[in-house]
Amino acid sequence: METKENIDNNIETAGHRLVILGGGESGVGAAILGKKLGMDVFLSDAGSIAPRYADELTRRGIPFEQEGHTEALILNADEVVKSPGIPPTAPLVEKLSAQGTPVISEIELAGRHSDAKMVCITGSNGKTTTTMLIYHILREAGLNVGLAGNVGKSLAWQVAESDHDVYVVELSSFQLENMYRFHANIAVILNITPDHLDRYNFEMQNYINAKFRILQNLTPTDAFIYWEDDPVITAQLRRIETEARLYPFSEHRHEDSAAWVDADGKVVFNTPEEDFEILRTELSLRGLHNLFNSMAAGLSACLLDIRKDSLRRALSNFEGVEHRLEFAGEKDGVRWINDSKATNVNSCWYALESMPDNKSTILILGGKDKGNDYSEILPLVEKKVKAIVAMGLHNEKIVDFFNGHVDAVISTGSLDEAVDTCRMLSEKGDTVLLSPCCASFDLFKSYEDRGRQFKDAVRRLTDEK
Ligand code: ADP
Repeated sequence: METKENIDNNIETAGHRLVILGGGESGVGAAILGKKLGMDVFLSDAGSIAPRYADELTRRGIPFEQEGHTEALILNADEVVKSPGIPPTAPLVEKLSAQGTPVISEIELAGRHSDAKMVCITGSNGKTTTTMLIYHILREAGLNVGLAGNVGKSLAWQVAESDHDVYVVELSSFQLENMYRFHANIAVILNITPDHLDRYNFEMQNYINAKFRILQNLTPTDAFIYWEDDPVITAQLRRIETEARLYPFSEHRHEDSAAWVDADGKVVFNTPEEDFEILRTELSLRGLHNLFNSMAAGLSACLLDIRKDSLRRALSNFEGVEHRLEFAGEKDGVRWINDSKATNVNSCWYALESMPDNKSTILILGGKDKGNDYSEILPLVEKKVKAIVAMGLHNEKIVDFFNGHVDAVISTGSLDEAVDTCRMLSEKGDTVLLSPCCASFDLFKSYEDRGRQFKDAVRRLTDEK
C-alpha cells in the first residue's frame, strides 16, 4: 500500500527510478519533468501513444514502450506516476502497491517542484467551466498564470519548462486518489453528486473521500471555497477537520455565507479580504449552475487580490466553454443548444433548469448509460419539455421511462436522424437542447466529437436557404 509515510520517505535523488504508466498529456509531462530533474525515467503504456507524444519522448531521449507493459522494467521503480485513467485495481498497479512502491499522480510530482500558488477545483459538475473562468479572470488581471489538470497542458510539463506564479488546476477524483502531500492554497469543491461510482465499488463515501483529498494539506492561511447547500459537502465537512479558512457560497444568504444573491439581484462577495458586488444579470454565464460557478470563481479572485474593475470585466465578458450550454445556431426561430458535456443526469438537470417554463424544449437524450436514474430530471422534464428524442444504440430505457410523461418520445439511431426529428417537432420559439445524460461512446468518439457533429449539423441547417 502506498501510504503517506512511504511517500514522505521517498525523497527523489538523481538516479531515482521514475516509471510512468500512461503516455498521454499528464504522463508525458511527468516524464519531461523527471528527465529534467535527472531521474531515471521510463514510460509504459498498455495502448498506443499518440504520435505527437511518442515523437516528444524520442526527441528528448526518454525511453518508453507502448502496446504492453514489461513488468521487469516497471516493478523496479522507486516511484510510479500513474495516469488517472488507470484504475487502482489494474493488476500491475495492485502488484506495485503490494510490494510497497509509491504510486502518485502527475500533479503530486509537479507540486513538489513548484512554489507557485495553486488554485484547485474539484466537484462532480462544473469543474472545467469554473477552472476556465478563474483562469480567464487571472489572465485579464495580468497575472502570470497557468492552466492545468484536466484542461490545458499538464502541470508537470509547465513546471519543467515554463513555470508560472499561479496555477488554476482542475482535479478529478481520479487524480486526487493519488495525491498525498500536494498543497493547494485555494481549494474549491463545487458539488458532489453520484458519478463514476463503478470506480468506487459503488460506495458513494469512497467517491466523497477522494474529492475531499483536495483539503488534506490546507493550512490556516489557505482557503476552502464550497457550495454550502450541498448536503454531501456539508455532512463531510462536519466529519473531518480542516485548518483552512472557510468561504461558503449559496444562492440565498446564510449566516456564514461569503457570497450570495441579495434581494436586488446583486451577487455579493463578502470576505475579510475583499468586498465586491456585481448584478447577476451582468454575469456572462447564464443558469443557476453557472451562478454557483461564478461565485466560486469570484471568491477565488477576491482571495487573490484582483482589482474590482478587472474582476467585473472578466465575469461579464467570459465566453463560456465549448459543449457546455453552448449556443449552436438558430433557424426559423428555433434555437439549438449544444450541452454535449452533460454526461450525467445532474448536469442535464441544470441545463433544463435554465430553460423556459413553457414546454418549448425538445431534449435530445441518450448514449452509453452509466446506470442513470432519470427520476431526478422528471419534474423538470414534465414542466419544460415538449418532446424527447432518444439518440443512441440503447434507447429502450429512455423510451420506457419517459413515455406518458411528455407528448412525444421518439427513438432515433443516428445524429442526422435525431436532428431531422427535432426539426420536424419544433416550431418558432422552441429550443432544441442536446444534453444527453450519457457518455457518448456508442455513436461517437467522445463528447467533443458528439458536440462538434451536432454543431456541424446545425450549421448545415442554418446555412440552408
Ligand atoms: P466538469 O468539468 O465537472 O465535467 P463542466 O464545466 O465541463 O464540468 O460542465 C459539465 C456539465 O455540467 C455541463 O453540461 C453543465 O451544463 C453542467 N454544470 C456546469 N456547472 C455545474 C454546476 N455548478 N452544477 C451542476 N451542473 C453543472
